[in-house]
Amino acid sequence: MRQPDLHKYPLIWRKDDFFIKIYCSIPNIATGILLTTSKAAFIIDPGDGILRDLNKDVGAETIIKVSDIFVSHGHHDHVGGVWSLLTYLSVLRRKAPLTIHYPKGCVEIKSIYNAFHQVYGKELSYKVILKPVEKQTAFSRNSVKIQPFKVNHREPLPDGISSELIPSLGYKFHYDSKSICYGGDTAYCDNLVKFAKGSDLAIIEAGARDEHASELHMTIEQASQIGKTAREYFLVHVPE
Ligand SMILES: [Zn+2]
Repeated sequence: MRQPDLHKYPLIWRKDDFFIKIYCSIPNIATGILLTTSKAAFIIDPGDGILRDLNKDVGAETIIKVSDIFVSHGHHDHVGGVWSLLTYLSVLRRKAPLTIHYPKGCVEIKSIYNAFHQVYGKELSYKVILKPVEKQTAFSRNSVKIQPFKVNHREPLPDGISSELIPSLGYKFHYDSKSICYGGDTAYCDNLVKFAKGSDLAIIEAGARDEHASELHMTIEQASQIGKTAREYFLVHVPE
């Protein structure tokens, strides 16, 4: 079993042509993940800096091929790069539609898209399709099967004491009899335990600073416990 790598980004995993690269995953700063096969290119949680990282790493040739964006939830460290990505795709004169999958009720994606459309709608070279995910129904995109699943993520309320549940998802990607489970941000929850188990790779957040913070995120101990049920795992979103 590979030991979890902490803080050393990028994290890379590959099985034949099933490839994932985590450029960054730092709480309150940014997340950015690229998943590719020989037939597909997806972006998961495009936080701030994703366009810069992709441009430096894979260039316009791959960026223009991205067909789908998967958003786990609307916190800024997971969606901060959406605006620049959408704009750059139009700069590249993209023609194919781009689909954004996000948890139903996530106001951030709708708001970013509405503002973006207001500014660039007339000159946009491609169509953006918003796909709110409500049910845990699997679907396929470019030979990859995607299984969305609900997780348990919250955000602090202004009183600084209480918190509220927000729409949040994990995604399990199946391709060529391999699977990658990405849990997004979540407290310890049964659904993540279920979907991470037996995955070839589990990407598990360990964003809690200590036991007291584990209502919003998991401790390293909790995350490792889930990670160990997969063949390999990465712990991400560890506070720096
Ligand atoms: Zn979050």
